[in-house]
Amino acid sequence: MAMSPALRDALNEQIRHELDSAYLYLSMAAYFEALNLPGFARWMRVQAREELSHAMKFFDHLCDRGERVVLQALAQPPADFASPRAAFEQALAHERWITGRIRGLYELAVRENEPSSLPLLQWFLEEQIEEERSVEQILAQLQRIGEDGTGLVLMDRELARRKSE
Ligand code: MG
Repeated sequence: MAMSPALRDALNEQIRHELDSAYLYLSMAAYFEALNLPGFARWMRVQAREELSHAMKFFDHLCDRGERVVLQALAQPPADFASPRAAFEQALAHERWITGRIRGLYELAVRENEPSSLPLLQWFLEEQIEEERSVEQILAQLQRIGEDGTGLVLMDRELARRKSE
């Protein structure tokens, strides 16, 4: 059964938002590389790949339903950030915005009577809890260490351990 055109279009748009997320975090990885903070850069590289996998989940869902994927243009992400803390503040604001988008998609799927898309969107709602939490925890640590350079070096070593997913 064909998907509601409103949901199909909204899911196509969400592919772009997930790729925009990947692009933003990749830009943050470049920023951290330039600061010689390879652990922070690694964390952002892994995050960017995870966002690409999110885009592919929506991509695959549309293909599985026999719907056409139409990719949209990506916006240029910011290249510079005021500080590591400012970068993570922006990451948190972005993830909260994405959570709002996913909630909107869930509500749209209910309204459009598309129960087949609800498990995927349910998965994303749970994923967003995790995304916001992990960024919040890093941000809290950055707030705690403030201007302490040693703290930043220790955090960099910690974040270097993030496994690729
Ligand atoms: Mg995502």
